[in-house]
Amino acid sequence: MNMNRPVPLLDVPRSNAPMREEFLEALAKVVDSGRFLFGPDVKKLEEECARWSNTRFGIGCASGSDAILLALMAAGLREGDEVICPSFTFFATASAVSRLGGVPVFVDIDPVTFNIDPKALEAAITEKTKAVIPVHLFGQCADMDEIMTICDEHGLVVVEDAAQSIGANINGRPAGAWGHFGCISFYPTKNLGGMGDGGMVVTNDEELEDRVRLYSGHGMRPRYYHQVIGINSRLDSMQAAVLNVKISYLDDAVAGRQRNAKLYQQLFSQSGLANEITLPVARFGDGHVWNQYTIRVHSEKRDELKAFLAEKNIGSEIYYPVPLHMQKCFQPLGYQAEDLPETLKASQEVLSLPIFPELEAGEVKIVVDSVKQFFAMSQRRAA
Ligand SMILES: *Cc1c(COP(=O)(O)O)cnc(C)c1O
Repeated sequence: MNMNRPVPLLDVPRSNAPMREEFLEALAKVVDSGRFLFGPDVKKLEEECARWSNTRFGIGCASGSDAILLALMAAGLREGDEVICPSFTFFATASAVSRLGGVPVFVDIDPVTFNIDPKALEAAITEKTKAVIPVHLFGQCADMDEIMTICDEHGLVVVEDAAQSIGANINGRPAGAWGHFGCISFYPTKNLGGMGDGGMVVTNDEELEDRVRLYSGHGMRPRYYHQVIGINSRLDSMQAAVLNVKISYLDDAVAGRQRNAKLYQQLFSQSGLANEITLPVARFGDGHVWNQYTIRVHSEKRDELKAFLAEKNIGSEIYYPVPLHMQKCFQPLGYQAEDLPETLKASQEVLSLPIFPELEAGEVKIVVDSVKQFFAMSQRRAA
């Protein structure tokens, strides 16, 4: 084994290469059809995503960010409405709220899963709360049983941010099938990644499906008659054609991620690093689809470890270095860093390691050995 072999965080060409001929064939069909918007590929992907999410409907749109925006528009979010969400997430979870004049209310996470803490969620509910956006972070469902109980009791709209988590589930019930809406992203690094931007809203509710479609097409019905002020957010036929090829292999991709996660867990737990790092926990077993494999690095060595890995050409990334409640653009909301202690701590400790489906066992071993090497060296230096 060549220990100096580079291990990328992601290798999109490696993932896509086996499907190359199928992509070209699918794209050629779209070229020849001349139907670049709507058309059979979009419809097929909508049905497939609904099937994966165990929902009745899927509505294609231009991105995962737009999926969240459209869900909130369809939910009737109004100026001043409060929407509870985690701060430890990607920006798009909360920006959709602000863009509609709503107020994101950031709450802390469960340190074990990195997902929103249902107790903190419940404590943040006020008269003005309209909706909740639980995020299924890194490929693992938030605690939806408890979240739905709380939200149902208070009559709140639930928009699941499943951008990273198509196929994730709790005892077989998938992400997107719990709340009023599920929002999926096809950004290239997601588990079902396209060749550009794309997104999907899934829902079980026929009326909500109709409203999402209305808002995604300029609120226009019939043509040139505008019922509401919508946006233009569609999924291209080209993108849908590519994604239809990829979704037919999504089972294999998920299995590859799960296999790599298991190998990491096994190798790391034999590595004697329990005092140095904490391993991720799959609370719902194989319901975790591992968009990221994220460890915590204790002490203040996280950035040093990242630099050490980079020097060995091993990819790693910090998701996310600055929680949303500490972002400049949200300063007017008046949060202090320490308001959400678990979120703050996570942002200082997390490091995501390569986990893409085609990653080989030998590569996982190189990553683990390199992490071991780093801590052995820093202990020697301290001694
Ligand atoms: C990627 C992502 C989004 C946004 O998806 P885009 O398709 O990039 O717009 C939203 N929320 C989370 C948690 C994400 O990871």
